[in-house]
Amino acid sequence: MGARILAVANQKGGVGKTTTAINLAAALALADQTVLAVDLDPQANLTSGLGQKRDGSSGVASDEPAPLTIFDALTGEEPLDVDRYVLPTPVAGLSLVPADSSLSSIELELVALDRREHRLQPFLQRARVRFDYIVIDTPPSLGLLTVNALIAAEAVLIPMTCEYYSLEGVAALTATIRRVQTTLNPRLAVAGVVLTMTENRTNLGQQVAAEARHVFGDAVFRTTIPRNVRLAEAPSHGLPAILYDVRSKGAEAYQALAMEFLARTRGVAPAVEGTAKSG
Ligand code: ATP
Ligand code: MG
Repeated sequence: MGARILAVANQKGGVGKTTTAINLAAALALADQTVLAVDLDPQANLTSGLGQKRDGSSGVASDEPAPLTIFDALTGEEPLDVDRYVLPTPVAGLSLVPADSSLSSIELELVALDRREHRLQPFLQRARVRFDYIVIDTPPSLGLLTVNALIAAEAVLIPMTCEYYSLEGVAALTATIRRVQTTLNPRLAVAGVVLTMTENRTNLGQQVAAEARHVFGDAVFRTTIPRNVRLAEAPSHGLPAILYDVRSKGAEAYQALAMEFLARTRGVAPAVEGTAKSG
């Protein structure tokens, strides 16, 4: 059995996928779960947000062999040695499979390979025996990388901002999820929709949030993630907000989200509602 595998996805850019992947993964690790965060985005924001500088900017002598990244895992020949891809992070219990910008050429590389939508799955199947949760960060597109994540995952977590076009974007994503369910991965479930960067002061935000709850019902997490500057600052320090400023509204919100997520995964109703519900 092993880890539950969760993909964080939304083809819309800048909706909080990476922030959610980092901080949910960190909050799960702080709740005594062993967690592997997997960076599947050529922007490599998850990698840098967890303190790993790639692309030669670390000042480390360059005669060292470049460490392996998710690119190598996707293009390598099975069986892969998972240990060679997994790095520690500043959070105890949280490990990382990094990405770098070389991942942007992956579509060209994969064209030549068999089963190009299924390149991530065998690697994660091998990794999952060692973790309770695997959290995959995906790029803002529905291309081959995201499809690989949706095939390897058991559930998708969808971060969504409360803006005018957000619901349409999520509708496009759920259509893709349905296509994957009927063809490539029938086990895929929707773990839920997380409302991110919420601002209770704006009417539009409240309307979109209400509409999201109407359309997606219980799939929308009760915990919402407020707009909070600490969440935006933390990655430049290479830390999850929970380490950067544990008392910030953002850190509290992600801890509440992790609790609600764990309660859902375990099939129990959460005992308390998210403490950070109202910004
Ligand atoms: P992309 O589609 O480019 O991968 P994304 O969906 O991963 O983007 P993030 O990178 O997590 O989105 O967030 C976009 C920007 O907004 C980042 O600068 C991030 O620090 C900031 N941000 C995310 N969530 C919040 C929040 N709740 N409050 C304030 N800033 C936030
Ligand atoms: Mg991102």
